[in-house]
Amino acid sequence: MKIFCIGRNYALHAKELNNAIPEEPVIFMKPSTALLRDGHPFYYPDFSTGIEYEAELVFKIAKNGKSIQEQFAWSYVSEITVGIDFTARDLQSKLKEKALPWELAKAFDNSAVIGDFISINDLVDKDKIQFELKKNGESAQSGNSADMLFSIPQIISFISKYFTLQTGDLIYSGTPAGVGKIAIGDQLEGCLEGKSLMHCTVK
Ligand code: ZN
Repeated sequence: MKIFCIGRNYALHAKELNNAIPEEPVIFMKPSTALLRDGHPFYYPDFSTGIEYEAELVFKIAKNGKSIQEQFAWSYVSEITVGIDFTARDLQSKLKEKALPWELAKAFDNSAVIGDFISINDLVDKDKIQFELKKNGESAQSGNSADMLFSIPQIISFISKYFTLQTGDLIYSGTPAGVGKIAIGDQLEGCLEGKSLMHCTVK
């Protein structure tokens, strides 16, 4: 399975990191060894002192597809949850300065926290999905998919021009504003429309 991530997909987040609003989706990938399942702790790695959370809606691909048209894109999505795209921001800043790829800062082991999935059919409105990250019981980040610069159908259509999407592939769809550092001892919880789907303790 493949993990796709979308960068800079919410205008206010692009702004908080001083990035331009992209004209096309910004795509990067993580390997399957990046996955960290709901309830498992995240061990703070020794190669960074600047790990940040990025809470994101995560979509699971239901069937294989290539060059998918936007109008059919939703039929390729089966399930959704909340995840965290952990980012070693200190490393990423250095890599960005040198215009180097981001993998060391984004694709390391356990950098893709994933919650429990729910069916896409259980959503009230697929185009307005509300989600939230709580840190130590307090709201740290909240977002709504209606604010995405590129919608899920646009993202699926774009990715599938370049990559065959396969059953079980995941798409991390970008983070809203409010990213921040984590510290050892933090308890992170991801909620989707009020349902608590993701839990992760930093150790
Ligand atoms: Zn992200």
